[in-house]
Amino acid sequence: MAVGTRVEYETVIGIEVHAQLRTQSKMFCPCPTAPAEGVADEPNSRVCPICLGMPGTLPVINRRAVELVLLTGLALECRVETDAVRFERKNYFYPDLPKGYQISQYALPLTSNGRLAVVVPSEGAEVTIRITRAHLEEDTARLQHAGRGFSVVDFNRAGVPLMEIVTEPDLRSPAQARAYGETLRELLRAIGASNADMEAGSMRIEGNVSLRPAGSTGLGTKVEVKNLNSFRSLERALTYEVARHAEALDRGDTLAQETRGWDEERGRTIVQRSKEEANDYRYFPEPDLPPLRPSEAWVAQVRAGLPELPAGRRERYTAQLGLSAYDAGVLTANATLAAYFDAVVEAGIAPKGAANWMTGEFSRLLNQHAADGLHADGVALRPEGLAELIGEVEAGRISSTNAKSVLATVFESGESPRAVILREGLGQVSDSGAIGSAIDAVLAAFPGQVDEYRAGKSQLLGFLVGQVMKRMAGRADARLVNEELRRRLEAGEAGES
Ligand SMILES: [Zn+2]
Repeated sequence: MAVGTRVEYETVIGIEVHAQLRTQSKMFCPCPTAPAEGVADEPNSRVCPICLGMPGTLPVINRRAVELVLLTGLALECRVETDAVRFERKNYFYPDLPKGYQISQYALPLTSNGRLAVVVPSEGAEVTIRITRAHLEEDTARLQHAGRGFSVVDFNRAGVPLMEIVTEPDLRSPAQARAYGETLRELLRAIGASNADMEAGSMRIEGNVSLRPAGSTGLGTKVEVKNLNSFRSLERALTYEVARHAEALDRGDTLAQETRGWDEERGRTIVQRSKEEANDYRYFPEPDLPPLRPSEAWVAQVRAGLPELPAGRRERYTAQLGLSAYDAGVLTANATLAAYFDAVVEAGIAPKGAANWMTGEFSRLLNQHAADGLHADGVALRPEGLAELIGEVEAGRISSTNAKSVLATVFESGESPRAVILREGLGQVSDSGAIGSAIDAVLAAFPGQVDEYRAGKSQLLGFLVGQVMKRMAGRADARLVNEELRRRLEAGEAGES
């Protein structure tokens, strides 16, 4: 490289997600995955000889867990393996793994070769990410450092069904990685496969990143980043790594293939360990479980249970409802927002009008409560109520400015918008008598402007409309005022009636 030239790099990112499947019982035993309603989750209260890894016990496959991975695979347009899928033992030692191995799928995953379309708002682009595989495995126990040099183990989480979803290294920026994570979360929630809650640990995400000279096709040294407890952390950690790699490569340093942890407070990654290879785990078929052969009939039945997916919904919104790609993208980025919008349209509001309110004022109010974890399905005002309010605006019975203030009230109270409009006297006056008197008064009060308008200074109409609206305290139907004022000015009526 000549002195002074700077190499441009391309970022290459792959993502691995672990999602806890929404099942009642664990992967290979009947222990519940959550405590009973109203019961405190005491450590080691949901365990049995199987999930404690006692010798001589036999695991049994959880049918619902298999179904949920099939459902996810189908939603991700994966190929579903109907041949004999073997569970395999992934061998390693760790105190949270009493058996000394984890039951997973390696050589032949249940589903593979899929894809997910991801809208990346910050880049104004849509990218398609190839999905390498979505397979089934079990979770480990949870280790807690108890201080004074010892740790304790809680086996409640041991054996909980987990799905691992791995992408090809198709992502080209930390922002794309974040958008992928958020899109996948919405998908998993929409199909009911997982609660996909990063904070509660039911969705965990890891990214691997490498840089290569722009234009080349090889892969650089890959670093895996863990300990990410939010999508924001994912984006920050990857951004940090991209900068670190670029600096090292510029200096001519060699990067180590390793696993690094994200330190949220310090805003940097720290080496955890050198990366192990697959053959370190000595995978081999689990002898205690029969091969899994999902029948075509079963797969067809699971496919029939797929709800409308975000991508299909987006397509329907633009192609059938005539929404802009932007509106469709905003509405479908969140399943509860899309369902709310559908219900407003169902209640009789034209899609475009419903979309304007939903992506505008409604989303603004929703964002104000985002920190409380409020989603559209938790808003006190139900879709029928929003439809009622939009209907009042469209019928000219309330101005859109006043409707916004009504929305702010009913959004939290859930009251009928009509009742609030009545109570607060915000209704719009469409009474032509009242509007007529106000116009008369304005024509009389501004004879100079009236003459100028008639002499051709047509932009004065706006001024006169404003004066009428002022006299009616903003409650007149502006469209009616406009029409009536123009009619009188053009008819040459004077204002001294
Ligand atoms: Zn158990």
